Amino acid sequence: MNRVANVHLANGGTIELPEPAWCTSQHEQGLDRTDLFHEGPEMALVVDTVRGRVRVLEAALTQYPFASTDAGRVPVVTVALDGGYASFDPLGLRALSLGLARHAERLQQLAYELERLRAEGSR
Ligand SMILES: [Zn+2]
Repeated sequence: MNRVANVHLANGGTIELPEPAWCTSQHEQGLDRTDLFHEGPEMALVVDTVRGRVRVLEAALTQYPFASTDAGRVPVVTVALDGGYASFDPLGLRALSLGLARHAERLQQLAYELERLRAEGSR
């Protein structure tokens, strides 16, 4: 049985929004129809820092089922980047993933360099 969310719109109307299986969103009420979006579970890289635990690269499946363009209505993955959110299609998300893997290798190399410098007593 398909789930349906009842959502109140900004214009005072109500819409029955069919829910995709992956949507875990509690839909915000009072939006314009074109601003309604489905969102899947958020995932993030959790990093412990001297300032505490932070979440980076938060990502989730997202879809605006009533977007004004066909391209806007297909599901994407949104990722928190540089203070905002960017949307990725499958090819773009794979490119981001490969870039992150290369960056992780560089961070490993930097960690080895840091260990070497500390072992030498550099200040
Ligand atoms: Zn939804």
